[in-house]
Amino acid sequence: MNKKEAYTGIDYFRIIAAFLIIAIHTSPLTTYSYTADFILTRIIARTAVPFFFMTSGFFLISEYNYNPDKLKTFIKRTAIIYGIAIALYIPVNIYNGYFAMDNLLPNIIKDIVFDGTLYHLWYMPAAVIGSTITWLLVKKISLKWAFGTTAFLYIIGMLGDSYFGFSEQIPFVKNLYSNLFEVSDYTRNGVFFAPVFFVLGGIIASKKFHTSPRNSLIGLVVTLFLMFGEGLFLHNLNVQRHDSMYIMLIPCMFFLFTALTYWRGRTVSGMRTWTLIIYIIHPMMIIVVRMVAKILGLQALLINNSLVHYLVVSVASASASFIILALKKRIKINTKQACVSDVDRSWIEVNLDNLRHNAIILQAAMPANCELMAVVKAEGYGHGAVAVAKCLNQIGVTAIAVATIDEGIELRQCGIQGEILIMGYTSPMRAKELNKYDLTQTLIDYHYALLLNKQGYKIKVHIKIDTGMHRLGFDVNSPETVVNVFTTKNLQICGIYTHLCVAESLDTDSVEFTHTQVTDFYNLLDVVARQGIAVPKIHIQSSYGLLNYTELECDYARMGIALYGVLSSKDDITKLQLDLRPVLSLKSQVILIRNVAKGESVGYDRQFVANRDSRIAILPIGYADGLPRNLSCGNGSVLVKGCRVPIIGRICMDQLMLDITDVPNVNVGDTATLLGKDGQAEICATEVAENADTITNELLSKMGSRLKLVNC
Ligand SMILES: *Cc1c(COP(=O)(O)O)cnc(C)c1O
Repeated sequence: MNKKEAYTGIDYFRIIAAFLIIAIHTSPLTTYSYTADFILTRIIARTAVPFFFMTSGFFLISEYNYNPDKLKTFIKRTAIIYGIAIALYIPVNIYNGYFAMDNLLPNIIKDIVFDGTLYHLWYMPAAVIGSTITWLLVKKISLKWAFGTTAFLYIIGMLGDSYFGFSEQIPFVKNLYSNLFEVSDYTRNGVFFAPVFFVLGGIIASKKFHTSPRNSLIGLVVTLFLMFGEGLFLHNLNVQRHDSMYIMLIPCMFFLFTALTYWRGRTVSGMRTWTLIIYIIHPMMIIVVRMVAKILGLQALLINNSLVHYLVVSVASASASFIILALKKRIKINTKQACVSDVDRSWIEVNLDNLRHNAIILQAAMPANCELMAVVKAEGYGHGAVAVAKCLNQIGVTAIAVATIDEGIELRQCGIQGEILIMGYTSPMRAKELNKYDLTQTLIDYHYALLLNKQGYKIKVHIKIDTGMHRLGFDVNSPETVVNVFTTKNLQICGIYTHLCVAESLDTDSVEFTHTQVTDFYNLLDVVARQGIAVPKIHIQSSYGLLNYTELECDYARMGIALYGVLSSKDDITKLQLDLRPVLSLKSQVILIRNVAKGESVGYDRQFVANRDSRIAILPIGYADGLPRNLSCGNGSVLVKGCRVPIIGRICMDQLMLDITDVPNVNVGDTATLLGKDGQAEICATEVAENADTITNELLSKMGSRLKLVNC
């Protein structure tokens, strides 16, 4: 249950952090006490930026190994925002005479990469560089070693920042740093400063160190005081070149962030964007406040009093950001509704880019002579067989597998090229159609082979061998029947294959069983070859076969579930781990919102009874659309406005109900994501399959019937 609650503490601290950053740039207490201002803006406020880096790390790093997409999205988003911010401040740059400086081009590059084209913008490139460095480190050398490495970078940074007065004493070191400062004005950048906080966020997300709420608060107070001491000490010695990197900052951030993670509850939506906008525009507001003060002749109050100045800038920044956020939302809702009306009810989004990506990655993982055979049975596991096959045809995949003759015929009628193998049973009475549509039929046993041969049509076939699954196929111990098939008149034997039945499992028994299956199969092929028969194309592996027994020598590997970017079950660990990307998202929309008073029930059997006054959203999707009824009564959840909300009551045939009490601002027409991503949040097929007590193969393949498919 816990995992479904949002990180309220993190959401709220974003606001504090944003106002601390404004404080850094306006020094609110100088009018009253220089030291108090130093403690506030040069020590306490130094937690703000690390906090933002840690938040990104917290949501990104722990999943890096599995999902590089998240990192890419983060980098892309940050880069776009950075671009907008740079453009926004060009007038200010012009006014400041920025473009009149010497060596303009090298300096602009340096600023764009490290220092920011205006003082506060360094954060954006630091986030991009810092997250990338962290990602690479975590991927290559584990979280623990990444921490060691980034902490080391931080120390180098610190010796060029708050401790520079000491390093300066050593001429050689001083020299190194002056070279470094040619490239970046500060060591507080994406290389030396940001990475350690990204890693720290990832470490907290990984829950490797348990610190109780009480201990984290004690730790926070102690380290914060030590940091005061450190800061004031360094300041008095006058060794600080810049004052943002303290030793104590790292433990302090660890305890602060850990403490925040214990404050769980409602999602405070919009906080992330709101504080980001505050961050970006507050220098603009400083300028605006100065201009207004000048025009109104209120300099004494609005500018010379540092505290009033700070408060006015803060209020102006917060309100302007709020307005921008509201405008942004309105634009978003309009575009979204346009998209929804195209597809009415509920729909499946198929990301063909990801499909192509998976096909290429899988093909690349196969041994040199092996070719990908795309399994598109059951409407391509719910993704739309024709669209999937067409897309794969276009990138050169020419081997396709289906389960039934009608699936094969449909593909041919839609112009799919190459070999289409029917892996299941086809009545011999339909031999004519097999021939007409140039479909390849699986021979499910010897008797079936003879019957099919008798129909009098030339038919392409693959021989299926039963090596232990005991479902379809010739007995692997009767090679003579296999040899006989090669003498039939009408059957053109293009392939011979078997199917593994425990390839997903890596325990000793299963691996041994699989090895026996494979050896028996190859032995049979030897017997066939010794009869002077040219062995046709061979294939053994399906998705897990490839991921766990990659090295097998085959002509094809039959890829189903992996092609669609997911594994069958959440807990499966495969020997070969590929960057597979989910292709399918399942979406619906809120069509009704109703209030239900405490004590009232919702849905069939009155399974949900409200224990508080609740807001309920109705989605037009039910079990007849392929959504398992097992997800009823809180077993499943759905994303609305980037938040997870539970499915309540029993899922109906055509509708389901959500409890949206904890998510404010949900409107009729809002998109609901049942599978896929919404903002930072994601619901994976493996998770849903587990909640529904099944595997993703079943979950996805049942979605073909009533939902509309949207390719994107
Ligand atoms: C469905 C099927 C596949 C594909 O299996 P995945 O595990 O989805 O890759 C491969 N071979 C046969 C015989 C199948 O029936």
